[in-house]
Amino acid sequence: MTSPATTALPPEQQVVLRQALADAINHRDPPLNCRTCETSGRLCSQCSAGLSRARTYFRLAREFGISPYDLEKVATP
Ligand SMILES: [Zn+2]
Repeated sequence: MTSPATTALPPEQQVVLRQALADAINHRDPPLNCRTCETSGRLCSQCSAGLSRARTYFRLAREFGISPYDLEKVATP
């Protein structure tokens, strides 16, 4: 299934968009080890905000027809 937005972007731009979103999501993903989260036993407000932002990026990616699997492929060096 392809969305209209995907077909509007040339393949080169799709690659760049995929890389940009993968970088953004990686940057916003909560850290595996957060002292505040560990102490409180749940997501701290900062990690929660980061996760929420990452989810927004994921939704945008989906609107452009980019699956989370594609983002992971880009994110892996
Ligand atoms: Zn945290």
